[in-house]
Amino acid sequence: MKIILLGAPGAGKGTQATKIAEKYGLIHISTGDIFRANIKGGTEIGKLAKSYIDAGKLVPDSVTCEIVKDRLSKQDVIGGYLLDGFPRSLYQAEELSKFADVDLCLNLEVDPALIMDRICGRRVCACGESYHVSTLNGSTTCAKCGGELYQRDDDNPETVKARLGTYNVMTAPLIAYYSAQNKLATVVCGTKTPDEVFEDVCKVLDSFQK
Ligand code: ADP
Ligand code: ZN
Repeated sequence: MKIILLGAPGAGKGTQATKIAEKYGLIHISTGDIFRANIKGGTEIGKLAKSYIDAGKLVPDSVTCEIVKDRLSKQDVIGGYLLDGFPRSLYQAEELSKFADVDLCLNLEVDPALIMDRICGRRVCACGESYHVSTLNGSTTCAKCGGELYQRDDDNPETVKARLGTYNVMTAPLIAYYSAQNKLATVVCGTKTPDEVFEDVCKVLDSFQK
């Protein structure tokens, strides 16, 4: 399966992506993770990406599309992959269609009222796990690997507002775009727990696989 995971910031794309990749044996490709790794490594891409990410804007297409194209040219994606955070605009979707043929766009629909608290309360671990402060009981380490938890630079109210604006203008039109191609499946997250959302996601993916 070749899947696109779509959803506003805070919809839980990263959390669901990890679970989906594990269960269905897909390679998880997150452009956000790739940029953060580049920032950490001090690369040229990282230096360029940081200013856009901190402002809640999209990293320029010339860089982003090239990264994804390159990643999808690797042998390991032959068994299927999950794109998390790409495409994020109609332009990127058109570019993607030139080098990949995705089967399904899974849209995670989140209650907008929940987004700010979810993101600003998020604490992440370098291993990929993320938590919400309300469930940590004061702990500052990752339950999975023991690593130190931290807050992403862009998980602050000001940047979140900008990210939501970017999502509404640039990314939300992809819902209609993939719907018109009969490739859209929407999972409504509401106030469900990640495990409950994952059950719904599995129903979609299982019926799709048959
Ligand atoms: P979230 O979905 O919670 O906003 P991500 O980790 O997916 O978090 O993305 C973080 C930031 O990385 C985005 O706000 C954006 O600046 C940049 N980014 C990620 N994917 C793309 C993309 N496909 N095109 C342009 N910029 C991107
Ligand atoms: Zn961890």
